Amino acid sequence: MLQFDKLSLNIPDTAKPRVVIIGGGFGGMNLAKSLRNTDVQIVLFDKQNYNGFWPLLYQVATAGLEPDAIAEPFRKMFDGYEDFHYRMVRVNKIDTSAKTVTTLIGELHYDYLVIAAGSKSNFFGNADIQKYAFPLKTIPEALNVRSQFLQCFEQASVTTDPAERESLLTFVIAGAGPTGVEMAGSLAEMRKHVLPNDYPGLDFSQMKIYVVEGLGKVLPPMSDEAGKKSQKYLEDLGVIIKLNTLVEAYDGETVTFKGGEKIRTQTLVWGAGVTGALIAGIPTEAIEKGRILVDPINRVQGLNDVFAIGDIAFMKLEDYPKGHPGVAQPAIQQGKHLAKNLRHILKNESTEPFEYFDKGSLAIVGRSRAVADLPGNVHLGGFIAWMAWLFVHIWYLVGFRSKLIVFSNWMYRLFTYQRGTRIIIRPFVRKDDVVGQKILVQNEME
Ligand SMILES: Cc1cc2nc3c(=O)[nH]c(=O)nc-3n(C[C@H](O)[C@H](O)[C@H](O)COP(=O)(O)OP(=O)(O)OC[C@H]3O[C@@H](n4cnc5c(N)ncnc54)[C@H](O)[C@@H]3O)c2cc1C
Repeated sequence: MLQFDKLSLNIPDTAKPRVVIIGGGFGGMNLAKSLRNTDVQIVLFDKQNYNGFWPLLYQVATAGLEPDAIAEPFRKMFDGYEDFHYRMVRVNKIDTSAKTVTTLIGELHYDYLVIAAGSKSNFFGNADIQKYAFPLKTIPEALNVRSQFLQCFEQASVTTDPAERESLLTFVIAGAGPTGVEMAGSLAEMRKHVLPNDYPGLDFSQMKIYVVEGLGKVLPPMSDEAGKKSQKYLEDLGVIIKLNTLVEAYDGETVTFKGGEKIRTQTLVWGAGVTGALIAGIPTEAIEKGRILVDPINRVQGLNDVFAIGDIAFMKLEDYPKGHPGVAQPAIQQGKHLAKNLRHILKNESTEPFEYFDKGSLAIVGRSRAVADLPGNVHLGGFIAWMAWLFVHIWYLVGFRSKLIVFSNWMYRLFTYQRGTRIIIRPFVRKDDVVGQKILVQNEME
């Protein structure tokens, strides 16, 4: 058994400047890689031992990919890096006066601190939605969603209560951003090609997939063209879209919308909002709308040696009054750019302001159906956008092994219309679900 008083971060002392990075996602990982061969000690803290490729997380949730296809372990990624130290810990607190970060197993002094902790689901203070809805921000959460989907089909095939069956076969996705759209499209394709063979006793014309969006269009961060096209693609697949509709309550059985309309469902997937994954100790005056205010070199407002990059950073610029979009490219580009500026700072040279290069946005709805907004006001749809989506995602996936697994999975699906991973690895049962808990205990008995 581990004893806390015998644990230590075990980072060697150094005469070099120490750069501590909190979070090895798109921003932190690119920063750490770009600092290779710089005369600094790098310490990376991340609560999970891998870098996750979140744009494909919905495919783990919809039985398209196994989790290891979209994750690369830090120990492998940084193999061979000199004076680089990774520790699997959560940073709980920052002390900007003492220049330390605190974790459960000790604290560490930094010379430069980079906060790259990303974002977390925002339930807008609604405790019931937080308790009963399914967020989709991490691999364990994607596995929960996958188990829930598959368990709903298993339970629907054995219940004798038609109302219960209807609720089990109704899926509500809150948020019509890329995650909501991609998840709904994937689920609709499963209903068409996979589920009727798996469950011949179930009538899948009863299965309903809703996408609910508070704003007036599908894919709010993308162009109107992309929004309209993706809405049509989803409707062609039989997805019911409700725009200008806000989820007000959910008790695990019934979703209530603002205005009073109700839908009975066992599954509400929550993709309706995110907020910065803030850490205690960040000065409150540097926080705005859940994110950390930074200057054009990503330096945290009011602090000299603390930086924030990626989703958690709020760089207010004339062109981006609401900050950069919460997508991978700003995080990647800020990580690389900050490495350059840290080298300038170490040499007492002047720094260069960050300039975002918008490479465009893509979203997939299903087989041969995707939308793309490209620089120069170019909007693509259909097969070309779908090919572009496949190519870009394979290109940006980290590691040859992941690229190979994902590519071969997609080819398998393209030709067979099948999904290879319809396996409940870890059953999901809510603590207050008495029948579910009983079945779980029964199944796990020797
Ligand atoms: C389901 C989903 C789908 C997405 N789809 C797309 C897409 O199609 N295209 C696109 O461009 N973007 C997409 N995004 C957004 C994109 O993934 C983010 O913008 C990007 O990951 C931001 O990078 P980051 O480095 O700021 O944070 P992340 O990549 O989220 O990394 C943050 C890291 O910090 C770690 N961490 C957090 N808090 C702590 C702590 N206190 N201590 C230690 N470690 C900590 C986390 O474990 C994580 O590894 C999607 C996101 C999600 C969740």
